Amino acid sequence: MRTLRLRFRWRGRVNPLEDPDVGRERAGHILKAIFGRVLSFARSKSRFVPQLELFVGCSQIAWDRKTSKRAFCHVFHRPGRVCAAPELITVPINYILGVMIHEIGHVLALKTWGRSSERDADIAVLKFLGINLEYRSDLVLEWVSNRVVEQVLRGSR
Ligand SMILES: [Zn+2]
Repeated sequence: MRTLRLRFRWRGRVNPLEDPDVGRERAGHILKAIFGRVLSFARSKSRFVPQLELFVGCSQIAWDRKTSKRAFCHVFHRPGRVCAAPELITVPINYILGVMIHEIGHVLALKTWGRSSERDADIAVLKFLGINLEYRSDLVLEWVSNRVVEQVLRGSR
C-alpha cells in the first residue's frame, strides 16, 4: 500500500525539482519510508549490510549545503545512522535511491575492506548489491536505473 502511494506520487511528476513545496516533516516521513525499502532491499542482497536508521535534518548537512548543492546525505556522523537533508525529496527518485545506496556502500566498504573512499563505496555497491551507480545531472549525483527503482520500491529480488 505504501509502495503504491509512493509510486503514484512520483509517477505523476515530470520534474519534482520544480515542485519543492513539500513540508520538511512530510519530506522526512517520505524519505524514511523510501530508506526503509532501500535498506531491506540491500539486506536481502548482502548479509554484511547492518541495520541502519535514516536521520533527516542533520545540521551539519544543512551547513554543507551552503557551499555544495549536491550535499544531501552522509554517513559515519553517528553510529548506525545515515543522515539526510530534507531537500533530498526534491530530486527524482532515481537519484534519491542512488544517493541512499551509495551511503550504504560506504558502510559496506568500511566493514569489509577497512576503508571507504567514494570509489570504494561504489565498488562495494556493485560487488555486494549488484547495482551499478552512475553519476548524472548538473549536480553529478548518484543515479540508478528505472529497473533498480522498480526492484527496490516493489521489494522484489
Ligand atoms: Zn549528520
